[in-house]
Amino acid sequence: MNTDINYKETLEEIYHTVKSEKNLGEIANYIPELAKTDPDNFGIYFSSIANEEYGIGDWETKFSIQSISKVLSLSMAYHLIGDKIWERVGVEPSGNAFNSLVQLEADKGIPRNPFINGGAIVICDFLISHLKKPKEEFLHYIKELSGCEDISYSESIAKSEWSVGYRNIALCNFIKSFGNIENDPDEVLDFYFNMCSIQMNCSDLTKTFTFLKDSTFTNSSGHRVLTTSQVKRINAIMQTCGFYDESGEFSFKVGLPGKSGVGGGIVAIFPEKYCITVWSPKLNEKGNSYRGMKFLEAFTTKTKLSIF
Ligand code: GLU
Repeated sequence: MNTDINYKETLEEIYHTVKSEKNLGEIANYIPELAKTDPDNFGIYFSSIANEEYGIGDWETKFSIQSISKVLSLSMAYHLIGDKIWERVGVEPSGNAFNSLVQLEADKGIPRNPFINGGAIVICDFLISHLKKPKEEFLHYIKELSGCEDISYSESIAKSEWSVGYRNIALCNFIKSFGNIENDPDEVLDFYFNMCSIQMNCSDLTKTFTFLKDSTFTNSSGHRVLTTSQVKRINAIMQTCGFYDESGEFSFKVGLPGKSGVGGGIVAIFPEKYCITVWSPKLNEKGNSYRGMKFLEAFTTKTKLSIF
């Protein structure tokens, strides 16, 4: 780490600056249950490679991690299945909205990457085919990554998403029509909606993502979860595809691999240096946390700690 930087002070200063400015954007009200979140929540959790840790603001409040879970399902599938997953999902940025159907017809049901909804649904299908109790085993996997026991699905959020999940239902069925979903679409979607409903706070999330920050990481049972090459590849997909059709903008402004979710969370990683989670529920028009983007842009600019 760059020892000249006082991380606590820098994080606090940026936090107060961003908090004093207008909180623009909209909460993800297309999922009724998410619309109930207090829009002024704002939390940060930072952890360096030396496990220097700081939490600021609402870092202890749990929120819906939504698409951030897609990194975790991908890494579990990558560990279990290996490179065969790339036969059914690509690694190119889509340049389209996360829930878009447009490219799938031309691409014959092979989603562009595992972080758009179609790609994440295919990854869920892989996990269902490989696991005896997918929901239990996935949650267990996350608990072992984070070392935190208090992580759970939110039944009310999963239910709420089912009730308005027309696009995801369409995506899953459309992909199945090309033969790229093996299991019953209802089962795949149920796993997908539950995975997105997982609730964690900023500290839990930062700890969960240690496996992408620290190449020596072992989980709470003492196992390595991914090879060095797999870690490299997942960080690379986060860099190019982690922010919907704003991935280029995030790379340009922040310069870190990361992943956002419509619950307003963003996790960003500087491999071998630090991991940081920012949570603020109001989203810009591309679906990324308005304050989260501002905070991280200021942080990597001020500390000069971006990968570029
Ligand atoms: N569960 C959300 C959906 O499918 C995930 C969206 C996101 O966070 O990108 O609409």
